[in-house]
This record gives sequence, structure tokens and C-alpha cells, in this order.
Amino acid sequence: MCAMAKALILCEKLLKLCHETFPNVETGEYLHWNCEQELHRIFDLIKEATLERCDIVVENFVEYDYANECSGVEVIEDSAEVTNSSDSLVIMDSENTSQEILTPISQEWESETIDNVNFTLPEMKYIVSYYDSIKRNKLACTKRRYSKVKDYKMIARFKKYLQKNGRKQEKIAEVEKYVKMKFDDAKARFLHVCERDMQRWGGQKARLLELPFKASRTWLSFIKRKYRYVSRKITKYVTKREIDSRDDLQNAAIEFVNEVTTACKGINPDDIYNFDESGFKYEFSPKRTLSFKGEKDTVGLLTSHNANSHSYTIMPLLSMSGKLEGKLLVCLQEPKGIIGPRVSETLEVPENIYLLASKSGKMDKALMKRWINDCVEPLTAQKSIVLIYDSWKGHLDSNLYENLKNDCKRFVIPAGTTSLAQPLDRHFFIEYKLFRRKIFDRVNLDEMELDLHKRQNVIKMHSLIYNQLQAPVFNALGKYAWFSCTYLTERVKFQSVNDKCFNALYDKCEHDNCTEESFMQCAHCNLYLCLTHCLVELHYHRIQE
Ligand SMILES: [Zn+2]
Ligand SMILES: [Zn+2]
Repeated sequence: MCAMAKALILCEKLLKLCHETFPNVETGEYLHWNCEQELHRIFDLIKEATLERCDIVVENFVEYDYANECSGVEVIEDSAEVTNSSDSLVIMDSENTSQEILTPISQEWESETIDNVNFTLPEMKYIVSYYDSIKRNKLACTKRRYSKVKDYKMIARFKKYLQKNGRKQEKIAEVEKYVKMKFDDAKARFLHVCERDMQRWGGQKARLLELPFKASRTWLSFIKRKYRYVSRKITKYVTKREIDSRDDLQNAAIEFVNEVTTACKGINPDDIYNFDESGFKYEFSPKRTLSFKGEKDTVGLLTSHNANSHSYTIMPLLSMSGKLEGKLLVCLQEPKGIIGPRVSETLEVPENIYLLASKSGKMDKALMKRWINDCVEPLTAQKSIVLIYDSWKGHLDSNLYENLKNDCKRFVIPAGTTSLAQPLDRHFFIEYKLFRRKIFDRVNLDEMELDLHKRQNVIKMHSLIYNQLQAPVFNALGKYAWFSCTYLTERVKFQSVNDKCFNALYDKCEHDNCTEESFMQCAHCNLYLCLTHCLVELHYHRIQE
């Protein structure tokens, strides 16, 4: 009987058994097939069936190494792999496949002819374990059940064979360990590995161990599934030099953080600051969206191409205690580099925004100096502070800092290491940008009459986000940014913007009698608010100094 037919009969038997065991359950749905415990139960049932009630020969299935094969969900990473892994599933169809699953690494059909009778390895295992489990009349009972068994000599030879086989299994495990080690090592060095290499490594080790072994396709697919190795398209290339320079940068970042933490011992974390610019396009153009499978072009809607090429800058000041200090700098892009008097008259600037403008929407040295004098200098009147910033040339001129009173320590983050050593870059801006994305997404999706490219709305939007992130609940988030760059050593638990403001636990705006759908939860007062009541009518909490 072919393996597939056996499997079908077995399944039918199994289903019947399930119904007998759980008579109150109509369907098989209560079985969670990916739950290992359930699988154990099923296999116990199979075992029982094969030993006690079932008359078909199915021993090959019983010791199937499901712990390795079935644990976890297999992730197929790309389409190339689909064909590959379906190859490896042929297992069930071929003649001796169940045996291959049983000992996926063994090469030949493991069987032994004893006294002119052929026994498979699992058969021998069953006979021996049955023989050992019986108290009296061992041989007679065994002979009754397994008519192929003639005398005790046979049992003794089975035992010897199984012992020898046990040693073989150990060697096979060693081969597997070696292949995994070689693979992991090659991947750590970004080397290209193909299936042939894995087979070659298996062969190498087997020869050393004097193990008769052929690295078959079945063995290969077993290893690939077990360690979740899949074929992937290479998406990025690096040179040896780049790897080395990456190591160098990592070392430079570590050294810099050490230097700062040593120099700042005893200084209040409230007085240690990181400042950095972050650029925003007036338009929000996300890179991904949900869409239809197989479509030729996935199109994103812009309000104007002009807005998509124009940008502005924001700059916060984040303390090591996780607080956002003072006002948020917003530098708009204006054709003449200034906000004209007529616009100024009508423009409402919330108290937490420090508004500047330039032709490019980027900062320059003159604007930096203005910001330092207006926003940083007042901090130094009473105390000495520490400033940490990156090596952008607009930051470096020491004339910029000449008006700062007291002894102000300054540290410049080495070029190329900002993603490792700049707290704002490392974790803060990503949360900030997520907040902004939420606003754009909701406005676009609900087709709200709110032009987010207008100066006034840009300013309001940043006033809202900044005010929300100044809520005490987000101090931990700010601190985490420092922790993630290793300035702080104690692990910081924090609530993200998503956790706190966009948890969607309540779907109605709680502002007076508003009937709108809520957009966010205020991080200060915990009210759920619609976009009108948080953004259009700016929901604002004054920050205690
Ligand atoms: Zn509030
Ligand atoms: Zn509302």
C-alpha cells in the first residue's frame, strides 16, 4: 500500500478515535493543530491505534520528529521559495518517504535482515519496547503480536542493532550542528551561501566522523525548515571596507557616549540637552499603502506636486530626563526668506512655537544664532548646561554660543554616528513623525476640509504634537531615546505615541456635545477628541515650568 493511502486510512481511524475520545464534540475544530500539546495528543492516539486497535502497518509515522517539523509556522519569504518548499513536501508521496521523515538525516532505508526476515528500524524499536514492557511470558507475547519474531536471539540482535544506530544518530546530530555553525558564520560575514554549500559541509563533517552519509535533498529541506533558512533576494550590497568602517563608526559612537557620560557625572539630567533639526515636506507622501494585488501602478494622491517638493524644519530640545524644553522651533520655507508683514498680522502662533523662516526651509548659521540667543541662553542664566549636537557645519562655529552664560559644556557627535549616538535621531523623531502621519491619514481618508499645507495649519499641527509629547506620560519616551544610545544604563519602560494617543479604546469625541468620531486621546487630560477639537480648535495644555 502506498504511503498516501496509509495516511488516509490513518486519518480516518484517527477521526473515529477522536470522536470516541471526545464524544460531545461534533467537529474536529477543538483541535488546535499548531499547538504542540495537541499534536502530542494526536500522536499518542496514533500510537495507541497502531499498537492496540489498528491493523494497518503504520509504524513509520509514529516516531515522526514533529517537534522539529511542526513547531512554529513556516514563513516562506519569497516566491522562489514556494517552489522550493513544495519540492520538499514531496516527502509524503515517494515510496520510502515516511522513513525519511522519521530519520530525516538518515540516508538509506534503514532495515536489517535477520534470519532471512527483513525488519525496518521502527519495527525493531517497537518490538524491543513491547518486549521490554511485558512482565511475564515476554517472548510468547511478543511472538503473538509480531509473528515475524521467531526467538530471543532475534530480540538480542535488534537491541544490538538499535544501540549501534543510536551512535549513528549522535553523529548525524553532529553533522547538523557543524552545518549550522558554518552557515551562521558565513551569514555573519555576508557571504553568499547556496544549497550545494550546505550539502558539501554536511559531507565534509560526515567523512571526518566516518559516517556513511549522503546529503540528500530531503536532508537539505529538513535542515532548511528546522533553522528557517530560505532563499532570499539580496536587497543590499556592502563591501568589506564598508563593514570595517561600520565597525569603526560603532566604536566611535561608543567612545563618544563614554566621554559624555564621564564628563557629565553628577550633572542633573534636566540640564543635559540634545538638539537636532528634522525636515518635513509640506505634503505627506507615504511610501506604502494597502492596495490591490498585481496592479500595475500603485498611485498615491498628493494635494499638489509643489507642496511635495517644499519642506520646512523643526528643532526640539530634549533633556536627558526625557523632557522637551521650552518652545519648538519651526522654520518655514518662504520665497523671500521671511514671513511678510501682512501674513504675520493674521498668523496665530501658539505660545509653544518659535517661528522662523528661510528660503530653503532649512536652518542656517544666522537662524541658529537667533534660536540659541532666544531659546537656549535663558536656560544658562541660573545654571550651567550641557549641549550635545551633531557635526553639521551650521552647528559648529563657536561664535554661535558666545552669549551663553555660565560654564556651558558642548559635545559634538562624531560624523556618521548620529543614528547611534543622537537620542533625537535614534528614537524620538520616529514617534513624532508617526503622530503627524496619523493626522494626515485621517484628514485624507475622511476627506476633511482642512488644508494641512497652509502655514497656519502646519504651525497648529506641530503645536499640538509638541504639546502632547510634552505631557509627563511621555517623559519615559524621551528618556528611552537616551537609553537606546546607551547614555543611560537602566532600562526604561515607555508608552509609545500609538499606545497612549491612538489606542482607539473609545470612538466618540468627548468634547461637550460633539458627536464626531474621536481621533486621539489627549496625553494630558485623557479625553478622547475629534480632529476638530484637538487640531482645528487647538487643544492645548500649558506646561508647568
Ligand atoms: Zn487635554
Ligand atoms: Zn469633537
